[in-house]
Amino acid sequence: MKDIESYIREIPDFPKPGIQFKDITPLLQDPDAMLETVSRLIEMIGDVKIDKVVGIESRGFLFGTLLAQRLNAGFVPVRKPGKLPYKTYSEVYELEYGKDTLEIHQDAIKKGETVLLHDDVLATGGTARTACNLIKKMGGIIVQCNFLTELSYLNGRNKLRGYDVESLFIY
Ligand code: 5GP
Repeated sequence: MKDIESYIREIPDFPKPGIQFKDITPLLQDPDAMLETVSRLIEMIGDVKIDKVVGIESRGFLFGTLLAQRLNAGFVPVRKPGKLPYKTYSEVYELEYGKDTLEIHQDAIKKGETVLLHDDVLATGGTARTACNLIKKMGGIIVQCNFLTELSYLNGRNKLRGYDVESLFIY
């Protein structure tokens, strides 16, 4: 098997000119590379009990559910508005142009539960920060913000100050 980092390909000017998009679909096509990725993400967490893994729509669901299974934890989706069927909590956040909203089911996390936040990419950090705010409001204890890749030149870590932020590949 090749180095797993080589399964993440860069697509220039997607979805807009100037954006170098990290495409993880080649990694998803290779079962050995996926297994190795999950093992390496688990190593970053260390020896701590996780009650819930929260994955951010939509690519955070992919490894998020695999991590939850390996950690013997529940999985919780954080989604764009109007997608979750039950009662939700929501939070609005600023984008470069305009605003967006993330939602979580009201019964997804109980007060005092330990939570691992996972997404495929940490870019400016706005999305992950908003998910953290929702988890905290519900009384969850965020053990780690865990990413497959981090675009460090966008300084997403600055928005996650106070949290343990770990990424497998840092660009
Ligand atoms: P942020 O809020 O940190 O600026 O953006 C992070 C969100 O946008 C993540 O949910 C992530 O999936 C998505 N994202 C931003 N840039 C990329 C990229 O280059 N590749 C992929 N796969 N997702 C990205």
